[in-house]
Amino acid sequence: TKQHGRNNFHFYQHGMGDRQIQENQLISALHQALRNQEFCLYYQPKFCAPTGAIIGFEALIRWQHPEKGLLSPDSFLPCAEKYGLIIAVGNWVLDEACRQLAQWRSEGATHWSVAVNLSALQLAQPELVAQVLTCLEKYQLPPDVLTLEITETSAINNPQESASRLAQLKARGVKISIDDFGTGYANLLYLKALPASELKIDRAFIKDTDPGSQNTAIVALIIELARSLKLNVVAEGVETKAQKDFFTGLGCDVLQGYLLGKPLPAQSVMPLLQER
Ligand code: C2E
Ligand code: CA
Ligand code: CA
Ligand code: CA
Repeated sequence: TKQHGRNNFHFYQHGMGDRQIQENQLISALHQALRNQEFCLYYQPKFCAPTGAIIGFEALIRWQHPEKGLLSPDSFLPCAEKYGLIIAVGNWVLDEACRQLAQWRSEGATHWSVAVNLSALQLAQPELVAQVLTCLEKYQLPPDVLTLEITETSAINNPQESASRLAQLKARGVKISIDDFGTGYANLLYLKALPASELKIDRAFIKDTDPGSQNTAIVALIIELARSLKLNVVAEGVETKAQKDFFTGLGCDVLQGYLLGKPLPAQSVMPLLQER
């Protein structure tokens, strides 16, 4: 294996012949990482746009690799998904995020919520609904403090079953967020079919929102659409003051991005409660 910089170890950039070996190595390393508890969650704050208050956090997985350092999800999740290991990893993420939120709430952050990303394979599991509800019960969390973020494409393989699973969870109070909205395969009909509570406008649209640019018009339209479907709108990847003002002005409900708060290790989160 070759290391391309500390934080982005690429398991894929090798000759075709190497590729299977690389993937096999990565898979066994991932199994070991699960056993040795090498995964951890970073938490990126989500802010109420009108008030600036922190309303909760998105849990983002990291791999604290014993030799390679802190690895970001793009370097190992695709492989975990391809070989089904994402189920075990995803279950760990759900459990850990709920455990952590319950702890923060017990320490006084009673208004915080947590968002967990779900992979396509997790969404395809019939056990998903029971697993999520069991986890909430285990940590005695009210269902509405958990948001499940799914992408437009993750439900595409079995749209009806996915939608019905999500509808069961939503009926219990769990929030469903459509992540990366605008980049995927989905059309508007599909959006209507999913029992969503929130829509996250993809960073790609947010990056280029200079006055008069085409993205500006698209974003305004997406926000209008979300409103008419009674969905909360989140702008993710907000990096500049101009972007923040733009999205707040358009009536976005929630802002997330490096300008306001980067993903943080769990131990750096609690001080934020006292900050405001
Ligand atoms: P995502 O769900 O769209 O998460 C947002 C990504 O954008 C995160 O990258 C976050 O650190 C980054 N980000 C946040 N604000 C900004 C900003 O202002 N500017 C820029 N340039 N980037 C920003 P991260 O943590 O590397 O995660 C990448 C992707 O990996 C996530 O994209 C998500 O699809 C996936 N992922 C992360 N954790 C999990 C997990 O526990 N389970 C699953 N299934 N997927 C996960
Ligand atoms: Ca997400
Ligand atoms: Ca996203
Ligand atoms: Ca993404």
